[in-house]
Amino acid sequence: MQRSHCLALDADDPLAPLREQFTLPADMIYLDGNSLGALPRSTAARVQAVVTEEWGQGLIRSWNTAGWMDLPRRVGNKIARLVGAAPGELVVADSTSINLYKVLSAALAIAREHAPQRRVIVSERENFPTDLYMAQSLAAQHGMQLELVEQGQAANRLRDDVAVLLLTQVNYRSGALQDMAAITAAAHAAGALTVWDLAHSAGAVPVDLNAAHADFAIGCGYKYLNGGPGAPAFVWVHARHVNRVQQPLSGWHGHAAPFVFTPDYQPAPGIARYLCGTPTLLSLAALECGVDTVLAAEPLGGMQALRRKSVALSELFIRLVQEQLSAHPVTVASPRDASQRGSQVSLTFDGDGYAVMQAMIARGVIGDFRAGDQTHGDADLLRFGFTPLYLRHVDVFDAAQTLRNILDSGIWRDARFARKGAVT
Ligand SMILES: *Cc1c(COP(=O)(O)O)cnc(C)c1O
Repeated sequence: MQRSHCLALDADDPLAPLREQFTLPADMIYLDGNSLGALPRSTAARVQAVVTEEWGQGLIRSWNTAGWMDLPRRVGNKIARLVGAAPGELVVADSTSINLYKVLSAALAIAREHAPQRRVIVSERENFPTDLYMAQSLAAQHGMQLELVEQGQAANRLRDDVAVLLLTQVNYRSGALQDMAAITAAAHAAGALTVWDLAHSAGAVPVDLNAAHADFAIGCGYKYLNGGPGAPAFVWVHARHVNRVQQPLSGWHGHAAPFVFTPDYQPAPGIARYLCGTPTLLSLAALECGVDTVLAAEPLGGMQALRRKSVALSELFIRLVQEQLSAHPVTVASPRDASQRGSQVSLTFDGDGYAVMQAMIARGVIGDFRAGDQTHGDADLLRFGFTPLYLRHVDVFDAAQTLRNILDSGIWRDARFARKGAVT
């Protein structure tokens, strides 16, 4: 595989113009869009306009005149197009962690009413920690147990004591992609509900919540949706459940008539009841710019086309690792089958992976390092996110070359790349 071949692939790439939507630092290859998406060109001007015009001039009137009240629904409807939800089924609110609390509470309330003998929440040990922490407190509050299984094993734990399966569709460490439709069907056949975390799926892989008959879903605004640091998150509930229960964070924006100011809470019909307090308007405006960068792919084939490019980029990276790094103790830790992988590739390195990543960052290739849980024998991982909106094949080539140079030269052993405070 030659660099010139990658340049030719880029010249032929119908999605290449989408990169123009972003402000990317020169001389940098950004492979961390799975953690914090890049800055869209439109964001600064939009936030500036919201600040100076809508807030500065419009003041309180802007809740109506600038559409602020409606923004959580409007941006929610845009995200809905990316995840197989219908208009009016998804809203933007709060953070992923808080939305998880709401939907898991609602799922447990349904389970308690219809199947009180089911006392177990099943999740995966390697799920993202905040999901497990939130589930731990909810299990304690409801007098239930949280049981953790190894990755990919949840469907095997579906016995008649399970109330809810709480799963992240794409694992943040390995990038392993789960079959939402198949697992949801297995859960339903076993009498359990599903809560899906789409933090590494929305904007990264095609998702079809309604086709999968999923029950509840949440997701993140600042990863593949490019909403900016701390962007608000989203929440979706299947139409068959949405009016069955009230979520516990009964704030006034989720009230049926917020501006009637009655002392008693009445949940709004539909997904609006999952709103809580006043939305973080500036962040929400920035999120809309980010979501629009993904929707800009719709005329070019949408999520399916983005997925094809994402797979091509990650396959290219794996091929380069296998061809060029065979002399080094590097292995691909993500599923080798692209259909079982999200939009990232994780590598293990038998050595100081932290230092290797620091050396890459010093040379302008930004990925990240995630330490493994040593007590379970989990490997440390070098993570590389491949965001098809703004990455080129040549970036993948150059990133692999940089990794090769760092390993060939042994520069990563240099003291400046060592973890501060590490005991060696
Ligand atoms: C990134 C991520 C989150 C983030 O939650 P916050 O509330 O935004 O901090 C949650 N769950 C998963 C699976 C994630 O990958």
